[in-house]
Amino acid sequence: MNCVQCKTALACSTSPDGMISECQKCQLTILSVGRLLQASDRRKVASLWSYVTEVENFEPAQRDCPCCQKPLIRFDLSIENQRHRVVACKSCYTCILRNQTHRAFLATHPAAQEKRLLQAYQKRVEAQNLELEKIDRAVGTLFQDVHGSLSRFQDSLPPQIKRLAQLLGFCALMHFFGIPIALGIVFGFMVAGRVFEGRVTITEDAVCAEKQIGSKPHDIFVSQSAGAQGVQVRSARHPTTQKAA
Ligand SMILES: [Zn+2]
Ligand SMILES: [Zn+2]
Repeated sequence: MNCVQCKTALACSTSPDGMISECQKCQLTILSVGRLLQASDRRKVASLWSYVTEVENFEPAQRDCPCCQKPLIRFDLSIENQRHRVVACKSCYTCILRNQTHRAFLATHPAAQEKRLLQAYQKRVEAQNLELEKIDRAVGTLFQDVHGSLSRFQDSLPPQIKRLAQLLGFCALMHFFGIPIALGIVFGFMVAGRVFEGRVTITEDAVCAEKQIGSKPHDIFVSQSAGAQGVQVRSARHPTTQKAA
């Protein structure tokens, strides 16, 4: 096959999808619409080609098809908001594109689109990381400045003022931790109240107290005369007597 413009003989690469050839001198790519479908956005090329086959009154190109020698047609189309010229043969489905237009078609392929999106995303992440590093450095410098100023200010204070500031700091600390400590003391008294709660009876020779042990109420008898040997625990519901040492 010869170039449609300079008539130089061109090498062709063929596959089941069709053929493709390029003239380096004229910067032209001559290819079957099947190859264009395979390498570009399939839907875009398919709708373009159905438009080409349906419409009759296209502007004729000045030259004939390099594959079948029938008259070529030409029309303009927009890819990514750029105007491109397409020369095509309605008889043998050959397209003749400027290399720039061919590259624009290739860029519409979903894989190429994904790659471009990924690259744009990576660029944005890199830019954000650079910004974060800048902010980090600025904050570090600011912190050092503030810390330095504070140290210089503290060094310039008379010792009495320094001691007063330490005392105020201690008071603030106690104010902060004082509330939980007070709550802890109140809670402790409440728990102790629950433990010693119960009915206590004092008779002539024993002290009897009602006390919850586990889930059952028990009576505890303490003999006034027998010392530790006189402590008895008795279940209130099942009055069996146990002797505790
Ligand atoms: Zn050429
Ligand atoms: Zn043709």
